[in-house]
Amino acid sequence: MPASELLDDCSALLERSRRTSPAFFGYVLSPASPVGIAADLLASAANQNVTAWRSSPAATEIERLVLRWLGELTGFAPDAAGVLVSGGSHANLTALLVALHAKAPADADRRRRTVYLTSEAHFSSAKAAGIVGVTARTVAADADRRMDPDGLRAALAADRAVGLEPFCVVASAGTTGTGVIDPLDEIARIAAEQELHLHVDGAYGALAAADPASACRFAGIERADSLALDAHKWLAAPIDCGALLLRDPAAAARAFGSGAGDYVRVMAEDEREAFAWWGHGIELSRRFRSLKLWMMLRYYGARRIGAAIAQDIALAAELADLVHKSDDFELLSGPHLSICCFRHLVPGATNAELNAHNERVLTALQRDGRVYLSNLTLDGRFALRACITNFRTTRADIERTLAVVRELAQTDV
Ligand SMILES: *Cc1c(COP(=O)(O)O)cnc(C)c1O
Repeated sequence: MPASELLDDCSALLERSRRTSPAFFGYVLSPASPVGIAADLLASAANQNVTAWRSSPAATEIERLVLRWLGELTGFAPDAAGVLVSGGSHANLTALLVALHAKAPADADRRRRTVYLTSEAHFSSAKAAGIVGVTARTVAADADRRMDPDGLRAALAADRAVGLEPFCVVASAGTTGTGVIDPLDEIARIAAEQELHLHVDGAYGALAAADPASACRFAGIERADSLALDAHKWLAAPIDCGALLLRDPAAAARAFGSGAGDYVRVMAEDEREAFAWWGHGIELSRRFRSLKLWMMLRYYGARRIGAAIAQDIALAAELADLVHKSDDFELLSGPHLSICCFRHLVPGATNAELNAHNERVLTALQRDGRVYLSNLTLDGRFALRACITNFRTTRADIERTLAVVRELAQTDV
């Protein structure tokens, strides 16, 4: 097929794709930064297979460097170890395997090993527990949907009493639904007392620690054993780019270090030269993900990244403020980090009628395409959820979003 025809087909295809426009507030999605796009193209062209230092020495050094930079940016640890992965789901699964090998003898009965999380934790952690074959226990949350430390203590005591073996707590640093941060400091204290691995799922929120004004909300993150984060969310790296940061550089080797095939056996004496990523994670062949992080972090810098995140947080606060001041919208949650949940009101309508109305409004919005929200049910109330992680979003986009919701809501009553 001639390239010109193929490119025509390609533009038709891309025209019908979803774009992360400045008023796209669904899920957790950001546009790709220009420097990240260029770096990803270079990484594809260089086509390094980042399996080990021997196969890709420069890429290995750069990956270890950007993991330390991410550790510094999030306040986790300036000398973090870890591994770059496809995203938060993969990071959470890897973390659970690391935790299991850190806190259990190799022959332990996995069904008795128990991991603790709240109903607000991202579903990938419960899914990971299912894959690994351990039991996931739901811990009570408080009125703000944060993990309740007393609830955690009670669950741990009850489970130990019936012979279960707790090994890990998964705390959220920015839940995907409403953006709340679990009380990391208090949970870290309990985890230390009870010799549990503390994994923090910061796939959405942890990068907000790069905003100096938000950093204090993450107090305790520096005591976690592992941290998941997604650079393809708030850092605007092109998909895919997630990271699992680890405090103990030897922790991953305990989970993944043995059983490599003879054809990859490393014969080097030097420790640096002998380093192999397959002994620190699930994948063998891996793309050069660190190049986009290395280029983006150097080009934009920590201050500018923090400022872009702070702007999104401020815009979510403005959205909440506009909702709060209006007669025809009700704020249902937030703002927490850059998430705000609300619904459109109809005078005299019951909750069931409002749920049906807002569901129809959301469908109309998504078909209309000018702005994009996603949904969440909060205490039986159907909410329109806005999550702002776009460095191009302005106040005008926020105002336009409410105007479009109003316009489409009028046609529904
Ligand atoms: C998005 C998200 C995940 C999953 O990340 P993927 O990159 O989509 O696999 C996990 N945890 C949280 C808190 C998230 O927001």
